[in-house]
Amino acid sequence: AVALWCRLSPHAVPGDPAGCSVCCLSPWPRLQELCRLQRLRCRALGVTRRNLGDFEVELLCDYRRVRDEEFYLVKWRGYPSSANTWEPRRNLRCRGLLQQLHADLARAPGGPVRPGPRGLPARAVSYLAQKAEQRRALRRWERHLNRTRSHRGRIAVENEVDLHGPPRDFVYVNEYKVGAGVALTPVAAGCECRDCLAEATLAGGCCPGASRNRFAYNEAGQVRIRAGLPIYECNSRCRCGAECPNRVVQRGIRYDLCIFRTGDGRGWGVRTLQRIRKNSFVMEYVGEIITSEEAERRGQVYDRQGATYLFDLDYVEDVYTVDAAHYGNISHFVNHSCDPNLQVYNVFIENLDQRLPRIALFATRPIRAGEELTFDYNMHVDPVDAESTRMDSNFGLVGGSLGGSPRARGRIECKCGAASCRKYLF
Ligand SMILES: [Zn+2]
Ligand SMILES: [Zn+2]
Ligand SMILES: [Zn+2]
Ligand SMILES: [Zn+2]
Repeated sequence: AVALWCRLSPHAVPGDPAGCSVCCLSPWPRLQELCRLQRLRCRALGVTRRNLGDFEVELLCDYRRVRDEEFYLVKWRGYPSSANTWEPRRNLRCRGLLQQLHADLARAPGGPVRPGPRGLPARAVSYLAQKAEQRRALRRWERHLNRTRSHRGRIAVENEVDLHGPPRDFVYVNEYKVGAGVALTPVAAGCECRDCLAEATLAGGCCPGASRNRFAYNEAGQVRIRAGLPIYECNSRCRCGAECPNRVVQRGIRYDLCIFRTGDGRGWGVRTLQRIRKNSFVMEYVGEIITSEEAERRGQVYDRQGATYLFDLDYVEDVYTVDAAHYGNISHFVNHSCDPNLQVYNVFIENLDQRLPRIALFATRPIRAGEELTFDYNMHVDPVDAESTRMDSNFGLVGGSLGGSPRARGRIECKCGAASCRKYLF
């Protein structure tokens, strides 16, 4: 809130706050309210003759029809519910709130609601109050997520489907949280390139070359190596700067994304609010890194809850698992699809221990703004691919699984809706 000193008095000259004499320390909207109550115009506060009689609608709580005229019960911002008033439609300019009210009534449990001359049925009024409370809770959570994120891409939250509020027991983290019994070994060496992309083609060039791997990106930061091959990015020991084309995943999420409630029983999902080009980095799968024994133990508990947030890091051997059930980023909310638009890659940056890759999700195709993001929870690579991958990278993939996958457990039915759906998740 903007706080400022403003003096008001009955002798004030309209439009000239400097001439007033009553003191108060108040946020900007409160001062505007005071002006309106005192019928004072003030250019500095933006209260003019035209909007002097305007008050802000916080909520529409009830609705009625008398003959052909519509009335709404208005909760005014800054005033208690006891000050609510019935207003005819023509007095209201809050188009968004009006649309929202009618959409809510159309979706209210028990079918669309019709208003009478005295208002809505009590059940519908209580439903509107619950929707309002839920929206407040979701806005609070959205603000919290955006304060917590360290990446450029913003996070929106939306539930126009049911009364579910923010998830309990979920902590937003921007990177791996290292659990008990897990140690990360910081990288000891970096590259000396003058231009990492140009030197990438030389034998042993840049960071990927040092471990006999291919440079993963083109000049636009799009991944150009096949899924299954590892990505080695430049690190804190490299001579290059933050703008190096070999620093993509480490720059974090750049797209604005929306956590939304799906309308077909798949819980929360994530959609992009911006167009995403093919092969672009979208997000990392982060969570708590735990040992596979610990994952086994937690898996038993999660199984009973029917959730799948355990992602085995089985790039070389199955020693560690990422658990995103309680600590995670936006990837926690990304749904499975048998025909996904995101693909998993193993990434090494500050930690070169091959048992502890970072998991990055890249777009497999161009993705339109508004499209839901999905990845395949149970990815497999065909044997021919696995064989050539092994030759290219000098690393063996274990069990034919590509870059790890959330732990396979009891049979879970798939609701992805893709034409090529396998019908069961695991
Ligand atoms: Zn380099
Ligand atoms: Zn480097
Ligand atoms: Zn570099
Ligand atoms: Zn499916």
